[in-house]
Amino acid sequence: MAFEESHAELKEALPRFLRGEASSADVKHASAPLGIYQQRNDLFMTRVRVTGGHLTVRHARALAGIIENHGIGYAHLTTRQDVQLQDVPAEHVLDVVSDCSQHGLHFRGGGGNTFRNVLVSPTSGIGADGVFDVLPYAKSLTDIMFTWDKAFVLPRKIKIGFFASPSEELNAAVQDLGFLAKEVDGKLGFKVYGGGGMGRESAVGVLLFDFLPADQVPRCALAMTELFSDHGNRENRNEARIRFIVKRLGEAGFLQLFNEYFNQLNPEIWDFPAWQLDVSAEVAALPSSVGSAEVCAKWVARAVMPTRFGDDVVSVRVFVPGGNLSAAQLKALADLAEQCGSSFLRLTPTQDVLLPLVRRGSLPQVYSALQAAFPETDVLLDSLVGHLVTCVGSTVCKIGVLDSPAAGCAVAKRLDQLLAERPDLDPAVATQIVDAIRISGCPNTCGAHVVARIGMQGQKTKIDGVTEPVYRVFVRSDDELGLAQPEEDFVKEADLPDKVCQLVLAGLSL
Ligand code: SF4
Repeated sequence: MAFEESHAELKEALPRFLRGEASSADVKHASAPLGIYQQRNDLFMTRVRVTGGHLTVRHARALAGIIENHGIGYAHLTTRQDVQLQDVPAEHVLDVVSDCSQHGLHFRGGGGNTFRNVLVSPTSGIGADGVFDVLPYAKSLTDIMFTWDKAFVLPRKIKIGFFASPSEELNAAVQDLGFLAKEVDGKLGFKVYGGGGMGRESAVGVLLFDFLPADQVPRCALAMTELFSDHGNRENRNEARIRFIVKRLGEAGFLQLFNEYFNQLNPEIWDFPAWQLDVSAEVAALPSSVGSAEVCAKWVARAVMPTRFGDDVVSVRVFVPGGNLSAAQLKALADLAEQCGSSFLRLTPTQDVLLPLVRRGSLPQVYSALQAAFPETDVLLDSLVGHLVTCVGSTVCKIGVLDSPAAGCAVAKRLDQLLAERPDLDPAVATQIVDAIRISGCPNTCGAHVVARIGMQGQKTKIDGVTEPVYRVFVRSDDELGLAQPEEDFVKEADLPDKVCQLVLAGLSL
């Protein structure tokens, strides 16, 4: 769909808003389905879709240029692998959308009651433990879904995810539609969950298929989209997501209904997948190692990850404080990826960036380049401050309750203290802690705390007649397919750091 066509409503509403003839609510009606929202500080946030967090070097540079050209504050990496341009002046919003669209960066379905960005394992096609690369399926399905207008006028949002490794089954199970890679008798396909989700009444979804051949993915997605469109609750937004259909019908009833939709669709009409990425070709073309100097062992333990391409090729995780990047940092990462020989970056649900393919012998140069590009950033993860995953919290989010990044900062400082007191611990523990903790500023669960080993949800409650900021702490104690469970008592905001410290100490194998 052309820019003019897909953004017509916004092009009409925003100039009226700037002239004082339309309200914020009028603008929101037009902008929300594009993932464009007014922030608490009256500036705007524009959410760019990056399917599976696969950000090409070309797109990273384009975004950096757009940030510079339009006086935008910074780019924020989200837990669903989008890039949010934050603090966009209202008078620049249309130009930002136009510039992004010209570079092939899309907004449609960035927010509102639509088909949202597809989540993909950040190491898909690269990591040592993936069954196969699921990214081409996510990209192709996105292209197909964009042709179904029904997917953009749903009762509420639909979130779809593709996961490459068996260890990610819980992530698949908490999507509205989650695909977990599986190979049976040499045939590629997916274990499929439906009707899971996070937010109000978070739930693990229903197992729809133990094995769905890969070429049936679009049929499955269309069946779920049709079912949702027909049976989702359009009267009560709070009970509109697919998991509330499951709640209403029961698991067996939902499965039966889904199968009715699935079976009435022709199984042979799909041309899938059309999108390809040959990572192996990039690996073959990687430049030789630049040198063999010693590199900081602590950094290697924390940031360097194995790939499926043997000992000589690794991925490097760049820890991004708060998930926030300046234009210069985004450009520096694009340059570094390219110098390492790869054409893309991956954005992770932990709000970090992955340099996907790096020769092990080039690690000293990568380490130096990161230190030079991020002089104020803790490349070594020596401090956890800014690295615990939180949602944007109530200072930015209009419907938020508590300032979750501030809570994350306080918890991180306490954990820094803990790690300083325990130099005997493996340096990799710092990364494990970062990956174990998630904080949301309200029950909407944008920080995905219910799938964390230690999750926190902000709210306010009356204690002795006084309304106080408190956190509900959630703990997931084993690797079974279940959500983190809330502890009975609230924890006062001020007591949260010590509480998390106790939990980390109790389960340091995390
Ligand atoms: S969890 Fe709540 S505070 Fe955080 S971004 Fe979502 S709605 Fe806002």
